[in-house]
Amino acid sequence: MEQIVIAGNGPAGCTAAIYAARAGLSPLVLAGNTPGGLLTQTSEVENFPGFPDGITGFDLVMNMQTQAEKFGARIEYETISEAFLTPGGPHKLILSDGTAVETQVLIITSGATPRALEVPGEDRLRGNGVSACATCDGAFYKDVPVAVAGGGDSAMEEALFLTRFASEVHLIHRREQFRASRIMVARAKANAKIRFHLNAKITEIIGNSNVEGIRIIDNIAGTESIISCKAVFAALGHIPCNEVFQKAGIEVDERGFIITRDNTTYTNIAGVFAAGDCADPLYRQAITAAGTGARAAIDAEKYLAEK
Ligand code: NDP
Repeated sequence: MEQIVIAGNGPAGCTAAIYAARAGLSPLVLAGNTPGGLLTQTSEVENFPGFPDGITGFDLVMNMQTQAEKFGARIEYETISEAFLTPGGPHKLILSDGTAVETQVLIITSGATPRALEVPGEDRLRGNGVSACATCDGAFYKDVPVAVAGGGDSAMEEALFLTRFASEVHLIHRREQFRASRIMVARAKANAKIRFHLNAKITEIIGNSNVEGIRIIDNIAGTESIISCKAVFAALGHIPCNEVFQKAGIEVDERGFIITRDNTTYTNIAGVFAAGDCADPLYRQAITAAGTGARAAIDAEKYLAEK
């Protein structure tokens, strides 16, 4: 029987592992399908304290993992396919290779995945102009037009970032009103390179081996048009990767993020804790994920001591 299993090894999982390992609890980390989490898909991280010259997302997570292993954390590249969670434990996890793991404490740090447009051409051209990360891929599109989909803060931030490289940024949003904060909308509107297409929906991404354009439909007039562009960045929010745990009885909000209790990392099931993007609809930063990972390990350690 394990004392602590940590599901996920992004910044939240790795930080929880560092804290739990230093407390002598020898945590088992199940790294899942995207070892290192979303951060590994980011290029330069310039806002993680302690790295004045920046660090790549991949190096940052790998450093965290090495630090956790140094103190006795064990990393396995396995995915949890089913979970049986019992208030007070033990909790049973079935891994994708069919083996079962029993643990007194589970810390869920399963992250969140970018929402897709779900239109023809998107899957086929992913990596060849279709991206969910302007920070990662924006610099490839110098002096050519690009498009961003969405009306939230991420869409504004990505559109503004892309103006550093692209000749023109087409922002496609399905409504007239924005979900983004006023200041971000004002900044985007003040940038002459950004062209707004409101009440519009992308219906197709066009291109043979690379993106050549997008087909959009005006939601009010019903008219279709084609915008020529070399890349499409979907900034449609994130879907938390909590399905397995939700099926096992973990309480989530209306968007699927795990609900934690009373400003702690406790979930509704005793002995199960949650940290990072899977329980954070708002901040979703490497540093905030790392912070909640530390809190989860401290909560778990106290829980085990009291048991
Ligand atoms: P949000 O959920 O806030 O916004 C998602 C946007 O995508 C919405 O405008 C939504 O439209 C649109 N959308 C969703 N699904 C579809 C679809 N199928 N087709 C077309 N459009 C779709 O996500 P964000 O990632 O923008 O932001 C998440 C959180 O992170 C927010 O709280 C935000 O404030 C924060 N954040 C803050 C930043 C900052 O302050 N600098 C930067 C980035 C994020 P609709 O509005 O119609 O629902």
